[in-house]
Amino acid sequence: MDCMHVRSLVSPYIDGELAAEKAAEVERHLDGCEACRALVEGERGVSVAVRHHGERFRAPAHLKARVLSEVERRSRRSGWRSRRRTGRAAMR
Ligand SMILES: [Zn+2]
Repeated sequence: MDCMHVRSLVSPYIDGELAAEKAAEVERHLDGCEACRALVEGERGVSVAVRHHGERFRAPAHLKARVLSEVERRSRRSGWRSRRRTGRAAMR
């Protein structure tokens, strides 16, 4: 198995979607190839980070709504008049 082949299998390898036989081949290559090993380490870090983020964003839906309404209130307080004036000027 060459580097190109290994690199095309990195994602399924990390996700555990590879057949045992294929995974063993990838591992054999990684034993002797530092570049591909670094790539796998990197990908693994990314997929962990993504999973982490997914959890962090799923949980505080109510928080997001609160932030959004706060932003809306602030923009209404500070930007409403000027926006209205701009709108009226545009109508003329
Ligand atoms: Zn390689």
